[in-house]
Amino acid sequence: MSRADYYDDEGEAQKNQCPRCGDTFLAEHSDREHCGKCGYTEWK
Ligand SMILES: [Zn+2]
Repeated sequence: MSRADYYDDEGEAQKNQCPRCGDTFLAEHSDREHCGKCGYTEWK
């Protein structure tokens, strides 16, 4: 996912930000959220 894609998402429902990166949104998956930048995964 490119950098621009993250900014495009800002107009949608608020997403969780990565606690490690701080400026990166976590990608939504069916059972977890994942940061594509550092690999952080938050299980639901
Ligand atoms: Zn991250």
